Amino acid sequence: MEILGRKIFKLPDGRIGFNCPACLVPHVVPLKNGPGRNWGYNGNPDAPTLTPCIVWEHGDSYCHCSVSDGEITFFSDSYHHLSGETLDLPDVTAALIPEAD
Ligand SMILES: [Zn+2]
Repeated sequence: MEILGRKIFKLPDGRIGFNCPACLVPHVVPLKNGPGRNWGYNGNPDAPTLTPCIVWEHGDSYCHCSVSDGEITFFSDSYHHLSGETLDLPDVTAALIPEAD
């Protein structure tokens, strides 16, 4: 894992991720120019914007969010306690181990 900046890390396969302050795990997305579904990224790891929005499902968890200028907004259909809120993306730390997907 490579730390690109305060809020974004990169996996060896080229996907990038951020720490979700609601789920307390990383969410990882593939970037454009790869096959299949992929995301646009403004290239600023200190104030990232990712498009389109992100849906993360894991067991009973459902997280629907958008990342813009270093802030994360949770759509109100998210299952967690930060549903409907916007807050600063937490800093990425090397101690955090990203999930495989
Ligand atoms: Zn989340």
